Amino acid sequence: MNSYGLWIQGAETAGESVRTVHVPFDGAPFAAVAEAGPAQTQAAIDAATAAAPTMRDLSRAQRSAILRQARQLLLDAKEEFAVIIASESGKPLREARLEVDRGAATLLFSAEEANRLAGEEVPMDAAAHGAGKMALVIREPLGVIAAITPFNFPLNLSLHKIGPALAGGNAVVHKPASATPVSALRLARLFAEAGLPPGALNVIPGPGGRVGDLLVGHPAIAMVTFTGSADVGLALRAKAGLQRMTLELGSNSAVIVAADADLEDAARRCAAGAFANSGQVCISVQRILVAEPIAAAFEDALRDAAAQLPIGHPLDESTAVSSLISPAEADRVAAWVAEAGGAAVRSGRATIAPIVLRGVPDTARVFADEVFGPVVSANSFRTLDEAINRVNASVYGLQASIFTKDLATAFRAARRVHVGGFLINDVPQFRADQMPYGGVKRSGTGREGPRYALEEMTERKLICWNVS
Ligand code: NAP
Repeated sequence: MNSYGLWIQGAETAGESVRTVHVPFDGAPFAAVAEAGPAQTQAAIDAATAAAPTMRDLSRAQRSAILRQARQLLLDAKEEFAVIIASESGKPLREARLEVDRGAATLLFSAEEANRLAGEEVPMDAAAHGAGKMALVIREPLGVIAAITPFNFPLNLSLHKIGPALAGGNAVVHKPASATPVSALRLARLFAEAGLPPGALNVIPGPGGRVGDLLVGHPAIAMVTFTGSADVGLALRAKAGLQRMTLELGSNSAVIVAADADLEDAARRCAAGAFANSGQVCISVQRILVAEPIAAAFEDALRDAAAQLPIGHPLDESTAVSSLISPAEADRVAAWVAEAGGAAVRSGRATIAPIVLRGVPDTARVFADEVFGPVVSANSFRTLDEAINRVNASVYGLQASIFTKDLATAFRAARRVHVGGFLINDVPQFRADQMPYGGVKRSGTGREGPRYALEEMTERKLICWNVS
């Protein structure tokens, strides 16, 4: 079992307490990790504040080079990171390897955006009294950014905050999820090796209510970028005051399967999109609306695809479904399924076999709330507009999709469904790391993807001069 201290001012530091991180599948101890208290949290903020001017003064080329070097080091350590992700989060190893590849892509996109970061000229003489003036908008770093991240993509979702923040010349204080802090602590060491100045990235695991709470509203922190549940995100927003805030929250992603869809392809993609990481993905396929004439055949194909997913230990190469993050989460998911008239097949400590429900009321929690487990519900619809309205009835709006061969149907749905991203002939669970990504309604505010995150992580400043 490896031990990790906090990472403050470019060095390992003792915390206020120590937490044992377990493999969720079987509870085996995996790592001993220091957790911060108020003193260490303040030390991390002080280190970032001191490093912010150094980061601001690095050239675009220097920031880009550090991010490129970090990408290379991550690829060199791919297997080590994949094992860490799989062990602490319970994500099957083959998905964990994909997460490392995606993390490397996020770093590359961040490095490219560091070089592209630029403002614009303002056409001052477009206003009568602007004649004889010239003006530029430049993009400046905000200073210190706090990143708070969830357990389900402990590497790549951290990089979606750290990469653009550093590209924009900011310093970072990162609080990872308590269940999965090891990826972030290992990442901090990797950035140090890549040449990042001490203090530019500080990683302080610790309970959300203890550490995260101190970061939100802190006067030295210019922005909080949060990914996690809607309840926590909304509570943080209420506390943040004028602090800038990005909220990447949950969802209950919907798919419409039209009568002319390629049924086998849609069912195969929906099974993969519903059960990857045991459904613990913010864009997991959760609600499927299927045209009535093909509903029964689609459901059979979906069940067949689900039944073929091997269940097992996350480090077993053949595993496709492992476990939920904790027994308490497995209990919650099983209770929601029972409420909807289904039954969860459980094994081990926190494993639930993939569940396909049919015809549950749209008001059942497995349909209306975010289930965040290996559960998908298929309900039939009669008209496209009815399906669109039922998709939009959700309080969430992260991504959604449609399967159809008809372009007019596809674009009618794309225009009318109220979400941050809409996919045609694929599942909403698709994300490439350069995409603008984020939600509407209870799914949050702001967009990630390095180019878009950088818009939020820099301040526009006007410089106007009189040339007359
Ligand atoms: P969570 O319970 O909301 O926790 C997220 C982070 O917030 C953790 O680091 C947590 O720390 C911290 N936190 C908890 N209470 C806090 C407080 N009072 N003040 C400050 N920080 C606090 O979410 P999760 O269970 O880890 O992740 C699952 C959720 O994340 C789902 O809803 C999922 O949809 C969402 N998610 C969204 C996206 C997206 O991009 N939209 C991506 C992935 C996941 P502790 O771990 O110490 O509690």
